[in-house]
Amino acid sequence: MPFGNTHNKLKMNYSSEQEYPDLSQHNNHMAKVLTPEMYASLRDKETPSGFTVDDVIQTGVDNPGHPFIMTVGCVAGDEETYEVFKELLDPVIEDRHGGYKPSDKHKTDLTADNLQVHTQPHTTTHNHTQPHTTTASHNTPSVPLLLPPQGGDDLDPNYVLSSRVRTGRSIRGFCLPPHCSRGERRAIENLSIESLDSLEGDLKGKYYALKNMTEEEQQQLIDDHFLFDKPVSPLLLASGMARDWPDGRGIWHNDNKTFLVWVNEEDHLRVISMQKGGNMREVFTRFCTGLTKIENLFKERSHEFMWNEHLGYVLTCPSNLGTGLRAGVHVKLPNVSKHDKFGEVLKRLRLQKRGTGGVDTAAVGGVFDISNADRLGFSEVELVQMVVDGVNLLVEMEKRLEGGESIDDLMPEQK
Ligand code: ADP
Ligand code: MG
Repeated sequence: MPFGNTHNKLKMNYSSEQEYPDLSQHNNHMAKVLTPEMYASLRDKETPSGFTVDDVIQTGVDNPGHPFIMTVGCVAGDEETYEVFKELLDPVIEDRHGGYKPSDKHKTDLTADNLQVHTQPHTTTHNHTQPHTTTASHNTPSVPLLLPPQGGDDLDPNYVLSSRVRTGRSIRGFCLPPHCSRGERRAIENLSIESLDSLEGDLKGKYYALKNMTEEEQQQLIDDHFLFDKPVSPLLLASGMARDWPDGRGIWHNDNKTFLVWVNEEDHLRVISMQKGGNMREVFTRFCTGLTKIENLFKERSHEFMWNEHLGYVLTCPSNLGTGLRAGVHVKLPNVSKHDKFGEVLKRLRLQKRGTGGVDTAAVGGVFDISNADRLGFSEVELVQMVVDGVNLLVEMEKRLEGGESIDDLMPEQK
């Protein structure tokens, strides 16, 4: 298993040219941005915990490209990485996050009730505006009732098999997974168990350490889409975050596995809400409630999450900065996905596709994982809204194509 950390002081005996990586075959954001001059100016810098530019770029050097997504090709080892190596990371962030500038400020909105029903110009099924009022029944004739806000609760379950929202969170003061030590990792695990054990009601759950699970139990959770895959992906391996596997890793979940927290995988914490069917509003509501409670539980123990106004929540992979949020559905699109405009439609809707087995898998039988492509510069609510609206449109297109009809008039504008 390759390790990413390259804390080798002797490298300074060689010139910058002699150390410069061969990026000739590469197609990732890091490789597009890095120049020999930039490398020369960064190679003797390190963060207070000792993360170097070689550690930042190793995963992108070892992984020239990826078959399904444009990777960023670099990782952070601690909160300070984004500051110390901003000469490299600012342009990577700008490229990856649609022109997000170093002076831009990120916004957070974890109020699930702000999801809306959007009327597509071509559809007649949704015509609510909201929040909307109506008068109550004849028993209380003069009192207007504020109906609960709507939107996102009715993705067609004949097509949408499951809905999920996840994000990552990092605990301030600890190195991130590509760089953290065994002791730090175990401390994060203990702190997480202690905090999560205080959750109550339908969020009440239990922690399962990877090292206490049998091979079969692990595989079952992976097959059921609840648990992260084993660290087989070269992207993960080369970044160094699989060191010491499975030490300090585990999954915490409530009894019905609708609220889950991964500990010490790609981020310190990955918080996930998911369930079968197309009620994204319910999933997002549970996500917001649970996440806010977790943040408070950590704060009560004097630990805050890494966050700043510019980058939002600070995470291991620059592609996840900001909200860290990926809202997605597993959806049947056998016809749309064969249409030659599929890629263009996804791009215009600011959506991304994956296979249903996770980021490294291809779609099987026309079922895709469709999720928001952005993380930064849009709030959580805006991103979930994009997924809800986009998936509704994709399902409508799928129905048209099933009937042998054209989807030309459904082509969306660029969002
Ligand atoms: P993440 O962005 O959370 O790291 P991955 O692509 O690595 O996502 O997938 C992690 C796991 O989550 C996989 O087992 C995948 O099948 C599962 N998953 C992702 N989206 C959904 C969804 N909408 N419904 C069910 N399972 C999902
Ligand atoms: Mg993943």
